[in-house]
Amino acid sequence: MSVIKRKYICKKDEEERFGLTQSELKALLHALDQSLLVAIFDREGVYQYVNSKFCEVSQYGKRELLGKDQSILDSGCHSKKFLEKMWRTIISGNTWKGELRNRRKGGSFFWVGTTITPFLNGRKPDQYLMIQTDITKYKMAEERARYLTQYDPLTGIPNRTQFNDFLTHALAEAEKHQQSMAILVLDLDRFKMTNDRLGHTIGDQVLEMVAGRLRKCLREIDLVARMGGDEFAILLPDISKDQDLILLTERIFNTLEHPFQIESHEIMIKGSFGISSYPNDGEDAETLLKNAELAMYDAKKEGKGRARFYVPQLHKRLHQTLKIETALSHAIELEELELYYQPLVSLRTGEIVGMEALLRWDRPGIGLISPEEFIPIAEETGLILPIGEWVLKTACEQNRVWQGNGHVALTIAVNVSSLQFEQEDFVEMVALVIKETCLEAHSLKLEMTESLFLKNTERIIERLHRLKDMGLKLSIDDFGTGYSSLGYLKRFPIDSLKIDRSFINGIAENEDDAVLAKTIIALAHNLRLDVIAEGIETEEQLIFLQEHQCDIGQGYLFSRPVPSENAGTLLTKKSYRRKETKYW
Ligand code: C2E
Ligand code: MG
Ligand code: MG
Repeated sequence: MSVIKRKYICKKDEEERFGLTQSELKALLHALDQSLLVAIFDREGVYQYVNSKFCEVSQYGKRELLGKDQSILDSGCHSKKFLEKMWRTIISGNTWKGELRNRRKGGSFFWVGTTITPFLNGRKPDQYLMIQTDITKYKMAEERARYLTQYDPLTGIPNRTQFNDFLTHALAEAEKHQQSMAILVLDLDRFKMTNDRLGHTIGDQVLEMVAGRLRKCLREIDLVARMGGDEFAILLPDISKDQDLILLTERIFNTLEHPFQIESHEIMIKGSFGISSYPNDGEDAETLLKNAELAMYDAKKEGKGRARFYVPQLHKRLHQTLKIETALSHAIELEELELYYQPLVSLRTGEIVGMEALLRWDRPGIGLISPEEFIPIAEETGLILPIGEWVLKTACEQNRVWQGNGHVALTIAVNVSSLQFEQEDFVEMVALVIKETCLEAHSLKLEMTESLFLKNTERIIERLHRLKDMGLKLSIDDFGTGYSSLGYLKRFPIDSLKIDRSFINGIAENEDDAVLAKTIIALAHNLRLDVIAEGIETEEQLIFLQEHQCDIGQGYLFSRPVPSENAGTLLTKKSYRRKETKYW
């Protein structure tokens, strides 16, 4: 019989002393066995009693433990000082409480929250009762949490926090030893598209592989971290010559050149790099990182797959962008926005069948600003959402006016940015605008760029179907500039595609453009899609497109985009088909 039972259970008078019956005691012991590790050891630390929970957690049998020294479970993790203090406490008759990391028979570790109480038998304690709870799970979660504050769980490399700590430390060292250093910020280009097209599992693998490749091409003293999403940062301490920095940057750059082979996919990844150096481009961590990021954004703007060194002028440019941003945020309320309209002409009949609404910003003191300049900023800041809604409303109202004037079949084409389309309530917003403006849905055509379709997620397809079911017309804008194949378009409920004007530009002279345009028209017709050609400027281009049965044309040859009153006048002309023109 165990020590506990011998000591406390057997005698009837003991029963009375504890106020417990035999069966209650049994239940109590059973409960203890379920939840707590209990052991009794003597003053030498030799086990005299262990309960079943103790055996279960430590993986030792009772016999393997009884009579053995406590150190059998020692993990070697606690310092001599720690253990000495524990023993001093209990030998002097006090209770010790703390956490112990022990080793199981199988070698793995477990954590126990521990209370050791001495049995005071006269002067000196000769036995100790140890009660423990298994806190391994909690400790592991705690360790994981600690790891996560320092490392990126996906790639296993340091995260932003650790990067910042290292950077601060490295800067102090550089200052002390009068050394230069650099940081490089890398953002993968179009990574979101890879993610959307191939799924997150593959996207994650790409990130892991990028981290691996970056690590491989760095020196021992360099540090690469994942700053979040598809952004990485590299710390390059002790770089004294510009030449070394350029060489190292080239190596990092080249490491991404080779395609990433994942499952059956061969993925090409490019990155935009921004570089800043200490002490020239900043003397503290925050400034250096900010400047490297600024240079990286500049590299992205210039076209992808580039590296840029920080130069102070970048701040000026950023400042300008900020100014545009602030002014743009007030543009709607100050009524500085205006819609211009450009006719869409049937190439068969010469009649205006629609108008495309094109946004203009009349900025006081500056004049008309092209959408190409401010729409990217509006997209970056989210201002495109209220602006886009205003455009849609204004264009629909305008079309109602024109239809009321007798142009009943006129379609209004409105450009929609991906960001707008991806809003949860986009379809509802369009439905409301149609309802409020009393426009028939089939008189509204939404133009979306190819990049949206490349995402090809269920959500996007479902949304397109809902718009289509409402009766709207849907068109792909700037077709040919992305990577979509025509076959791919079968999945989308669209009505038309618009060949990008860069192809139309060359059709009369450039054989490649001509072949491309012809092929797009023929294949699109096969898919029962209407084809629109934008940017028609010359008669030759028009004739070519007519010969190849392009359905609709748009371009300076017919009219530039004009304010609504002028567009109204164009409509009253009814047709571009005049007797004297040879092309109709
Ligand atoms: P887009 O939708 O492809 O519009 C056609 C652009 O080509 C217009 O430029 C138009 O003025 C121009 N264009 C038309 N015919 C010719 C031509 O014969 N030759 C040349 N060289 N250009 C021609 P715009 O108005 O500057 O608009 C540029 C882009 O800005 C639009 O391209 C569209 O993507 C975007 N955009 C315009 N308005 C809006 C809007 O309300 N919302 C959104 N999200 N984007 C808009
Ligand atoms: Mg358009
Ligand atoms: Mg276009």
